[in-house]
Amino acid sequence: MEKGKSKEIFAQAQSSIPGGVNSPVRAFKAVGGDPIFMESAAGAYMKDIDGNQYIDLINSWGPMILGHGNELIAEAVKQAVSRSLSFGTPTSAEVEMAELICKMVPSIEQVRMVNSGTEATMSAIRVARGYTKRDKIIKFEGCYHGHGDSFLIAAGSGAATMGEPNSPGVTKGTAQDTLTAPYNDLDKLKEIVAANKDQVAAIILEPVAGNMGCVTPVEGYLEGMRQLCDQEGIVLIFDEVMTGFRLAPGGAQELYGVMPDMTTLGKIIGGGMPVGAYGGKKEIMQMVSPSGPVYQAGTLSGNPVAMAAGLEMLKYLDSHRELYASLESTQQQIVKGMQETLDELGLNYTMNAVGSMYSMFFTDQKVVDFETAKSSDLDKFGAYFNEMLNNGVYLAPSQFETLFLSTAIGQKEVEQILSAHKKALQTIN
Ligand code: PLP
Repeated sequence: MEKGKSKEIFAQAQSSIPGGVNSPVRAFKAVGGDPIFMESAAGAYMKDIDGNQYIDLINSWGPMILGHGNELIAEAVKQAVSRSLSFGTPTSAEVEMAELICKMVPSIEQVRMVNSGTEATMSAIRVARGYTKRDKIIKFEGCYHGHGDSFLIAAGSGAATMGEPNSPGVTKGTAQDTLTAPYNDLDKLKEIVAANKDQVAAIILEPVAGNMGCVTPVEGYLEGMRQLCDQEGIVLIFDEVMTGFRLAPGGAQELYGVMPDMTTLGKIIGGGMPVGAYGGKKEIMQMVSPSGPVYQAGTLSGNPVAMAAGLEMLKYLDSHRELYASLESTQQQIVKGMQETLDELGLNYTMNAVGSMYSMFFTDQKVVDFETAKSSDLDKFGAYFNEMLNNGVYLAPSQFETLFLSTAIGQKEVEQILSAHKKALQTIN
């Protein structure tokens, strides 16, 4: 596979961009080699600047649930651009967007648009702190909530990949207000809450974790957390930046039937444009300026072009609800086929999956939290990643990331993924 042009531009990029990339998760640091620079994409495929084609299993880290080049979204964007790139005033598209989010996400009564998932989570904890008049938050080891200072404590995703879960630059003062707990361990969470009685403003979690690889909540975990928050007056925040509009039209909260007080959204909600949102109970959201005292603002928040893309995406998902079952059945077919190969080759690796998200861990342990996720053999993962890439399948270049399917992945792609998987495992074992 020719990669000369990517190599050349990556070398060039490193003099003007730190590490040559604008987000650490794009680097191939964890898997060896240089990142691939993409040129175009259509449907299930991305094409790099050397002319190689890959089946895309990251889908821009989640947003491209309909695959690349959706014509309805592209047309809505063109129309919006022809009106104006930005007004800095309210527009009716923002109202339509808010109403659709409130309709689709069961626990959201009011919502504020921002520009990224990071902004959404940063803002949500500020509101929760303002509402409860408490300072501390609890997050879970291996969950990633963007790069806000409060969240770079025992964080997953790129922070785990780069071995920098506690980033320099985060002050001790900020770090001490973030308590961390192991994922999927309700008893430990209760202990931490008890030890910090009346001090915890919010518990924030990925209801299905994607940033330590795909890790699902054990039975009763979300329900138990809901009960704990009710008893202790703690705001429960579901970070649905990955799971929102992906696991169901109303996200993980709809799938598992557990309602948070606040929800953070990103990725799919922008249809590929930079958008985030946070919302929740009206009583809590009424704290947000200008209706309340908690300040949060944004020059480009609710940008008309981003709203046009996001609205078209959400309208499509809302009116094609059958696609969720179809995405899940594609996942099941892939996971079943991968498992068959593992059995055939006598390999005991762990597969985790839900809806259109899945991960394979190079460990025989059941993966339920960050500790067990870290038992994966990362050298094996790196070798597997590179073999999959050489066989035309683009995976997330880190074990600590989930894979995302799009509706553009059909039978032909499933077969190619399974054949690449078999070849890769045969080569590296
Ligand atoms: N929350 C979760 C669960 C995420 O997965 C991410 C990004 O991957 C974020 C928040 C941050 O979103 P963004 O990268 O748009 O700032």
